[in-house]
Parts: sequence; C-alpha cells; structure tokens
Amino acid sequence: MPLDSNQRVIKNTSATILGSEIRHLEDCLRSGCLNGKGKYTKLCQEWLEGFMQGGRALVVSSGTSALEMAAILVNIQPGDEVIVPIYAYVTTVNSFVLRGATPVFVDLDRSTMNVDASLIEAAITKKTRAIIPVHYGGVACDMEMIMKVARKHSLFVCEDAAMACCSTYHGQMLGTIGQLGCISFQEKKNFTAGGQGGALLVNDPSLVERAEILYEHGTDRGRFLRGEVERYHWLDIGLNATLSELQAAFLFGQLEASDQINARRLWLWGRYFSSLAPLSQKGHIDLPTIPKDTTHNANIFWMQLKDTSQRPGIIRYLGNANIEAHAQFMPLHLSPYGKAHGRFSGVDSVTSLAASQIVLLPLHMGLSDEDQDRIIATVLAYWEADRVTLNQPSQPRKISDN
Ligand SMILES: *Cc1c(COP(=O)(O)O)cnc(C)c1O
Repeated sequence: MPLDSNQRVIKNTSATILGSEIRHLEDCLRSGCLNGKGKYTKLCQEWLEGFMQGGRALVVSSGTSALEMAAILVNIQPGDEVIVPIYAYVTTVNSFVLRGATPVFVDLDRSTMNVDASLIEAAITKKTRAIIPVHYGGVACDMEMIMKVARKHSLFVCEDAAMACCSTYHGQMLGTIGQLGCISFQEKKNFTAGGQGGALLVNDPSLVERAEILYEHGTDRGRFLRGEVERYHWLDIGLNATLSELQAAFLFGQLEASDQINARRLWLWGRYFSSLAPLSQKGHIDLPTIPKDTTHNANIFWMQLKDTSQRPGIIRYLGNANIEAHAQFMPLHLSPYGKAHGRFSGVDSVTSLAASQIVLLPLHMGLSDEDQDRIIATVLAYWEADRVTLNQPSQPRKISDN
C-alpha cells in the first residue's frame, strides 16, 4: 500500500473535549467560587455515588492523590508489604512506598495483562497489608478470587481503577468492590477533569470518617460545615488533594455525557477487534480477552505481537504512515525503581515477554472512522509486506513505499 507521508498525524491518545463543558465552566466563573469542594465538586461526587453505587466518593486532584489517601487509610506502616501486579503505572506503587511499604510484584495473566489472581496467595507473608489490583485498560481483574483471598487473610483490597471508570465485574462497577477504589480523570482516561483529576471511592463505611478528615487536610472541617461541631480542629495527618471547581465543572460536563463517550470508544474498540481478528487467526498477534460477565470501557486498544522482534518495525512502519503506535509500561520489577524498592514473588513467566510484545493503537474521541480505517489498513499491510519479504528473502524488506 502506498503510504503518503503528508497525511495528518493520527495521535495515539488525545484528551476528550466535547465542547458542552463550556456551559458549566461559564457558570462556575460567574459564581466566582473556584477553590474546590463547591457546587461542581458536589455534583461530580453525587454523580459518582449514584452511578457507581459504591460508598462515599471524594473528588480529588489526581488518581495518584486518591492512591496516596488509600495508602494512609489502609494504615500502611514501614515494613508492610502490598501485593501489586508488575504491569502498572509507577504511581500505583509509589503511593504505598511513600508510606514505607515494600511492593511485592506478582506475575500477569497474558490474556488480560491483569494480575494472575491464582498467584496472589503464594505472595502473602505476615507483613502483607493489602492487595492492589490494577484493572489494566479498563478490563476487570478476577475480583472474586482476589476478594476471597483477601477475606481469608484479612487484607485490604484497594482497586486501582484509574483506567476503569464505568467498567463492571459481575454487574458491579470497578472501584466499588474492594474497601477502596481509585479512579483517575487524567486526560488519557475516558473522562477528564480538564487534564488532571481523580476520585477516591470509600466503599467500607468504617473508613469514611477518616477519609473525610484526610481530605480536609487532617481537620474535621467537614463536620464543622455540617454544623456538628462549633469549630474545627487539627486531628490527623492530611493532604491537599482538592480539585479546583473549574476542573470539577469540566469533569461534570463529561460525566453527564459518559454514555456517549463510552459508546463511541467501544465502537472503535470493536472495529479494531473484528478487523484485526484475521491476523490473530493467522498467528501474527493475540488480541485482548474480555473475561466472562464483565464489561469494559474501551480505555485503550492493544495487540500482542507473537514475534517480539517485530515491535520496533511495526511501530516504525505505522510511524512512517503518520500513525502513532506505542509500546507501554516497562515492567516495574525491571526498572531501577522497582529493583530498589520492590520484591518479586514467584517466577516472571509472562510479564516481561508479554510487555515486550504489546503495541497500543490510537483510541480516543478525536479518532474518526476514516482515521481508523487507515490505521487498520496499515496494520494489515504490514503483514502483507512481511509475507512478500519472507517469500523473496534476497530483497531487502521495504518499510514504506513513499
Ligand atoms: C493514570 C493512572 C494512574 C495515575 O493517575 P493520575 O490521575 O495520572 O495520577 C494510576 N494507575 C493507573 C493504572 C493509571 O492508568
């Protein structure tokens, strides 16, 4: 296929901006109240509590600040251990390392890139405090097995649902199944609070009071505002995780349109899946598995190359066609950070290999059907070109024809 280098660059990700958010932004500016914890923060929290049916929702400045609050609520002490999958964003682990915990990394299930839940129990020691399942790409971990192991060993489950807002497991929203759930509204996620933002879902009622104190910088200002105390006091450690009202106003515009956003992303995801299925049948790639009785939010689309050595080539081939394709995370246990702070439990029989085979294709609200047609045609053409080269080994392989 001739590739035209003058074609517009198709970005891998791009922030969702609908335009309808402007109404709320104007209203917020007119109100003169920008500090946070005002009308729009409340609207977002009510939306999350109503829609997700978990517990208390606190809208915060990032997914990371939600995770940091979770680490405090779980009462992590120096020397404690937390069990995490290796294929996670570094802040998942950082939030617990900052409280003195040692992350214990567990291998993945190749078909979802989520933690292999059957390996968790073997990683538990006397020091283990919590399990942190990461719902990679918005696809659910095996929560039944994780909750069962956690109950048996009296561990907290703190879901990193950063990518997974609106995905479900057995009919329950992700982020509402563990005692705590952390959601991100950073611009790569399905909904954004104008670039940064997050929410902490406090599903265990016994943690709500302390969560509110943390959220109020360590004070009982929440109770003061409800008229329950005459003045407020400094009671505990705390942090400033407040989301500004302007950002909350932006976020509310996106939560209101969540059905529309999710439907579009799922449509694009489904088109990739069915169009690339022939490559999977021919043995060139594996496509993601969506476990039974779960729904996902199409946060990303990935394929796994069967031949690891092809990754730089296909990323370059797509790049020459002005299509941004990416590798994703480096497994944490291989990084200098992971080596310094963490420990691996068991054998890395899946993670390193699978992580080196992943390619992320563009998926965002700015992607038109025509753009996606061009991406799919280019991916298919890569293997056609490959087949030609295999049949004619004497000719150097052409990466592009332009
Ligand atoms: C995005 C993300 C985070 C961090 O969220 P921020 O809002 O950027 O702080 C944590 N974990 C995972 C899995 C993520 O995808």
